[in-house]
Amino acid sequence: MQITGAMLIGAQAVRGAAGEMRAFAPALGEEIEPAFGLGGKAEVARACELAGQAFDAFRAAPFETRARLLEAIAERIVGIGDALIERAHLESALPKARLEGERGRTVGQLRLFATLVRDGRWCGAVLDSALPERKPLPRSDLRAQRIPLGPVAVFGASNFPLAFSVAGGDTASALAAGCPVVVKAHLAHPGTSELVGRAIQQAVADVGLPEGVFSLVFGGGNEAGETLVAHPAIKAVGFTGSRRGGLALANIAANRLEPIPVYAEMSSVNPMFVLPAALAARTEALAQGFVDSLTLGVGQFCTNPGLVLAIDGPDLDRFVKTASAALAQKPSQSMLTAGIASAYEEGVAAREKLAGVEVLAEGAKTEAHCDALPVLFKTSAAQFLAQHALSDEIFGPTSVVIACRDEAELARVAEQLEGQLTATLHIDRDDYAMAARLLPILERKAGRILANGFPTGVEVSYAMVHGGPFPATSDSRTTSVGAMAIERFLRPVCYQDLPAELLPATLQNDNPLQLWRLRDGELVRG
Ligand code: NAP
Repeated sequence: MQITGAMLIGAQAVRGAAGEMRAFAPALGEEIEPAFGLGGKAEVARACELAGQAFDAFRAAPFETRARLLEAIAERIVGIGDALIERAHLESALPKARLEGERGRTVGQLRLFATLVRDGRWCGAVLDSALPERKPLPRSDLRAQRIPLGPVAVFGASNFPLAFSVAGGDTASALAAGCPVVVKAHLAHPGTSELVGRAIQQAVADVGLPEGVFSLVFGGGNEAGETLVAHPAIKAVGFTGSRRGGLALANIAANRLEPIPVYAEMSSVNPMFVLPAALAARTEALAQGFVDSLTLGVGQFCTNPGLVLAIDGPDLDRFVKTASAALAQKPSQSMLTAGIASAYEEGVAAREKLAGVEVLAEGAKTEAHCDALPVLFKTSAAQFLAQHALSDEIFGPTSVVIACRDEAELARVAEQLEGQLTATLHIDRDDYAMAARLLPILERKAGRILANGFPTGVEVSYAMVHGGPFPATSDSRTTSVGAMAIERFLRPVCYQDLPAELLPATLQNDNPLQLWRLRDGELVRG
């Protein structure tokens, strides 16, 4: 498959005329071919109009067709072969083995949503029988199901060029819900985006769905994204990126004539609580595991462990010593983009200047382009509580160890934390009582609570939650990873006394789709 530098508007390849850009290979420090034509307002509007036109036909298509679309996308992505991994590697500087794993996750995610669509429980069919004899008033026949919201704008993330990008979790869950998708490609990996976009475009044709089910646009500056979110055909937004970007888009969405939901995953420092018995029993292993997790993928994970909290004393001193020695061995490596590398450098430099913050260790500087040098900081709980800047995410391989005087101070720090994607507890049996006291705080703060693990791995499954209170996301009621992600793009509709001939198949008496339904309060398949 060729990379041509064109946008994909419905079934067409359209070369944008609002300027040009080339992808940048961060590890080489140079631009790579070909040139991409950037789209302007007109092309973005065209993609949105096509999505609006496709909506009713797409949502009316059998669930089986929707499931086959998701599977066809997965097959087409696998069919691109090594060219996809090569291009993603060039554009992101991520290792090929990591990208192969990410491709596996991406197609697995699409297949999970295909299974979910066929199962049909997502549509939440509910039937309340009429009670014509009820006194003093009869009850109507009431039936409800969930229907898709409408076309969804998706902003691909820079740090997962496959799993959180053009065919990532937002796109997969929106298509599974029956929503057409317009993706605004991340310009950190435009070639990867085009390859995957073409796979989706072909899959839409393979299963005979209307062309507007999928479009991919490129834009320079913020104009394309702003136009996309403001377009009246768009009914929801999925975003992964910076807090500033997510808030800017949420602001546009809220100020439209018809405001729409924005599901933005933005910023998290993922605190790790190492409780006393675990710290004493497994000091060295915990320190090594933490540094490995912190520096994995050059720290470019939204679930990177950016804070370590423990009670001060000799065990924490040993932890710090081992972690510092391990971190000093970690080389500086190329980041995803030159911009992300300079934001990291600035963030670390600003943190070094904060009062009461000590640099414990730095990694080994290499000659890599656009690189990030791992840095480990230490401070006291009192300093952390006094300086809000210590709560801010620095995207990359850096973390702060916070020494707390006692359990009460540990709990105060936990209380002051902003919303998080994850919170981790390292605990042995003797820590359970303290953990039980911390849990109610952590439940209020985080979308996922882990015990004795590291937060950087995110499973795609039915129970996964990759969300959390602000600023982790703009809407804590949802997740952007896992089966529950589909719920973001659905809304309930109730049908009161609708004639049988007009009811959707999901709600007909004889249950032609054999769905699990809540019938007069009981979950049945009949
Ligand atoms: P970003 O700057 O937020 O950009 C993400 C996407 O949103 C891009 O497609 C960008 O389009 C668009 N966008 C951003 N601001 C916009 C605005 N005001 N109006 C319209 N569109 C806008 O994120 P990034 O480039 O991936 O990385 C920058 C920083 O984001 C990192 O340093 C890190 O702090 C954070 N980040 C967080 C996560 C996470 O998982 N939470 C992941 C990746 C990055 P344009 O290219 O047109 O600007």
